[in-house]
Amino acid sequence: MSKNLIVIGGGAGGPSAAAEAKRADPSLTVTIMEQGEHVSYAA
Ligand SMILES: Cc1cc2nc3c(=O)[nH]c(=O)nc-3n(C[C@H](O)[C@H](O)[C@H](O)COP(=O)(O)OP(=O)(O)OC[C@H]3O[C@@H](n4cnc5c(N)ncnc54)[C@H](O)[C@@H]3O)c2cc1C
Repeated sequence: MSKNLIVIGGGAGGPSAAAEAKRADPSLTVTIMEQGEHVSYAA
């Protein structure tokens, strides 16, 4: 059965946590929920 991870917050911490979880388990389905208009961006 596939596993789902929901991350609340698209600031600095949320996408980092989501990426790390995906690295640890590539089969995870990860969804980031951000209440604001923009998510974190770093070139
Ligand atoms: C004035 C100021 C200046 C700063 N300047 C710098 C700087 O120059 N350099 C630096 O490295 N750091 C700086 N920081 C610190 C930096 O902003 C924080 O360390 C960093 O943003 C923390 O990241 P975070 O992901 O933990 O939290 P946040 O960045 O606060 O991200 C949390 C996110 O969760 C979202 N959220 C909250 N509740 C919900 C909900 N219920 N549903 C959906 N989304 C939700 C919010 O909208 C937000 O986008 C500054 C901070 C402040 C206040």
